[in-house]
Amino acid sequence: MRLSRYFLPVLKENPAEAQIVSHRYMLRAGMIKQASAGIYSWLPLGFKVLRKLENIVHEEQQRAGHIPMLMPTLQSADLWRESGRYEDYGEEMLRITDRHGRDMLYGPTNEELITDIFRSHVGSYKELPLTLYHIQWKFRDEIRPRFGVMRGREFFMKDGYNFDVDHDSAIHAYNRHMVSYLRTYERMGLQAIPMRADSGPIGGEDTHEFLVLADTGESEVFYDSAILDLKMGDRQVDYDDWDQCRAIVKEWTTPYARTDETHDPVLFDKIPQERRKTSRGIEVGQIFYFGTKYSEPMGATVVNAEGERVPVHMGSHGIGVSRLVGAIVEASHDERGIIWPEGVTPYHAGIVNLRQGDAGTDKTCEDIYGALSAAGLEPLYDDREERAGAKFATMDLIGLPWRITVGPRGLKNGVVELTSRKTGESEELSPELAVKRIQEIYARP
Ligand code: ATP
Ligand code: MG
Repeated sequence: MRLSRYFLPVLKENPAEAQIVSHRYMLRAGMIKQASAGIYSWLPLGFKVLRKLENIVHEEQQRAGHIPMLMPTLQSADLWRESGRYEDYGEEMLRITDRHGRDMLYGPTNEELITDIFRSHVGSYKELPLTLYHIQWKFRDEIRPRFGVMRGREFFMKDGYNFDVDHDSAIHAYNRHMVSYLRTYERMGLQAIPMRADSGPIGGEDTHEFLVLADTGESEVFYDSAILDLKMGDRQVDYDDWDQCRAIVKEWTTPYARTDETHDPVLFDKIPQERRKTSRGIEVGQIFYFGTKYSEPMGATVVNAEGERVPVHMGSHGIGVSRLVGAIVEASHDERGIIWPEGVTPYHAGIVNLRQGDAGTDKTCEDIYGALSAAGLEPLYDDREERAGAKFATMDLIGLPWRITVGPRGLKNGVVELTSRKTGESEELSPELAVKRIQEIYARP
């Protein structure tokens, strides 16, 4: 993309309404614009990051054997009356009446809708296990929407639902989700810690939330710092292997990690003092096993191997995709702007032409742009007639991990500058080598 042809409405001033850094930088970097309280338009740069996160979620879900689909945002109230949640959900549910006087709602989650799909089409244990998911907009009429996309009213969420014949296989589905979530967050450059949680209005017996540590998080968290040493890395996971999934879950749930809702000071005090940590965290996902809570009232049953008709065992599993954009910025920024992890960056590298209109710098920039594009990468070329300082400030604000700077002075010696956004370190090298380096960086697993 050439910046001269893009739509990147960066703001020079700090927007007064933004209380936390991710909100401030997302507005300043032209990623989002508020449409109304807690509802945002995703401008091109923000949309690109959102799509990247969505893709990672899709890839990791499908790797785990989960099947993508798409359910609507608007739902009929009747299904929610069947589960009993139409009354229970309260004022967070946006209720709508259509022209025929039918009660509708903008879905805050999809347990009822998916259970209805299941009961219409599945009747035998032979069709299980089954996990269906979608990534779709949700609406919760939060009393205090704030912090930009972190606590919106309309937000983008992956929600998945497992259907299993009995408790044990549903617990495997739970474990499989935890493992796939750990991989997902790691690919986004985040460490999200699974913490024992309360089940809230979804209901259920087993649940973990995934929290990213950040000062601006809304939850208070207590953990054993030993958990920070855990990595999924590039280990091979066989998602059909119950023992392997269980072992990974055990590894990640053995060190103490809880939110204020489930915190147990007696257990916490048993951790050696130097590893006992308290901080704030951002909830970026949650998994639940809730058994037959929805299948029983809604009559979602299957015939098991013994020929008995039993309610199906279910769980639901959510990732806050739009909140994650903010969470990543909270976890990765400095005083000049965002620092995107390589796995989610909207563009792989920025190209800054220090003297637009100079035949030499223009040609080198075009060559680098062409070579990176030909290699399947997406460069963002700042080809505007702007001062160098303004170009650098924009690149720093929008946070691309790598910048190639092309100026007449360097070109005299046949070199350009390759700069890491994270460390600020620069290196002079030939344009060809700079391209090769960027290619190598993104070829890493
Ligand atoms: P919270 O406790 O933050 O209100 P929740 O526990 O009600 O969230 P879940 O039902 O677990 O939310 O939804 C799954 C994920 O969706 C959450 O982990 C979070 O990342 C995201 N999410 C929930 N509410 C919002 C919101 N208002 N804005 C943005 N993302 C949200
Ligand atoms: Mg939650």
